[in-house]
Amino acid sequence: MNWKLINKNKNSQPISGSYSDWKEQIAKECFYQCVYCSVHEAQFGGIDHYHIDHFKPKSKFPGDKENILNLFYACPICNRFKRDDWPGEPDLNTVSYINPSIIDYTELFSLKNSFEIEGKYIASNYIIHRLNLNRAQLIIERRESTVRAKEIDLREKINSLVITIGEFDSKYVLSILISITSIYNNLLVLEQKRREVRPYELQDIRRS
Ligand SMILES: [Zn+2]
Repeated sequence: MNWKLINKNKNSQPISGSYSDWKEQIAKECFYQCVYCSVHEAQFGGIDHYHIDHFKPKSKFPGDKENILNLFYACPICNRFKRDDWPGEPDLNTVSYINPSIIDYTELFSLKNSFEIEGKYIASNYIIHRLNLNRAQLIIERRESTVRAKEIDLREKINSLVITIGEFDSKYVLSILISITSIYNNLLVLEQKRREVRPYELQDIRRS
């Protein structure tokens, strides 16, 4: 759940080469993460494993093939799910893709307790469905980032506790220790899952 609005600018249109030469620039514009699932390239093999996504598919919009405004950074899984699918012009209330440089994808989804996301609009539900944004890989990512955020919060508490330990009673100290144990247990479980859970199945990327 770390989507960001992509700042696209006509002036950044390269004057030479073709889109495959512009991958570093596109990766940087997109914060080095997939614009659809928000997984950072560091989690997934780096730039060589990531793809350049033609938001408007090049097979259907050949005129936008080399248009920097149409080019985004995507992980291989989302890119393959999306392929040349184009159900219609972007519109939140119809089945369509939403341009990540027009609307911050954070606005499109809400996170459920199960760490699945659900769409706030027809378009966002379609994107979840087509790109399989509730695949096991992403659910673990979301769980892990939630636990990590708690860990950071807890570390700050521990730091202040160490400084002023004399001012707290033992119940408070005990409650912090219990939280620490619980968070590290959660992290251990997640790390184990990450090694075992298949991120997606072959049939997922072969559907029409
Ligand atoms: Zn992705």
